[in-house]
Amino acid sequence: MGYSGGGADRAAAHAGTQVRGVNAAFGALRRSMQLVDGAMKAYDPLKSPNPEEWLAMDEQERLHLVERFHRRAGIRLPNVEAHAVAHVMVENQVALGDGLPVKRTVQRLMSEGLDRHDAIHAVGSVLVGYLNDLLAAPEAAIGTDPAAGYYAELEQLTAKSWLSSG
Ligand SMILES: [Zn+2]
Repeated sequence: MGYSGGGADRAAAHAGTQVRGVNAAFGALRRSMQLVDGAMKAYDPLKSPNPEEWLAMDEQERLHLVERFHRRAGIRLPNVEAHAVAHVMVENQVALGDGLPVKRTVQRLMSEGLDRHDAIHAVGSVLVGYLNDLLAAPEAAIGTDPAAGYYAELEQLTAKSWLSSG
């Protein structure tokens, strides 16, 4: 009988709704526990984020925290989203640690007098410039390690060159 089949379907749909409700409740509970556990609630570029906490977030959360920092700090930017993307790319590379030259470049720039936020901007501007060059002439990178040119530019970057760049 089609009618009882429909009833079974409705029962299944109802059970599904309940399961989803329970899952949502658990999700909310898990998130609140993470907050209690000290997961990142806010991003402050002057402090190095805990690499594990940073990498545990998804990209959207990272962008959201970075954008929120700049908005709350009242920092005027032509494009806060693009600025956040640059921050997140650099922080991702910093979080990967000593396998990349990025973390030590940020540290070196700070030893040269930049605050951490400015050091992130300096590295970000090299990265964005490099990516733009790569997109404009991708054939130039064929057969080479595309990151090598970026790392070489980081070696050239100094607090002085950044400050005099504008
Ligand atoms: Zn910034």
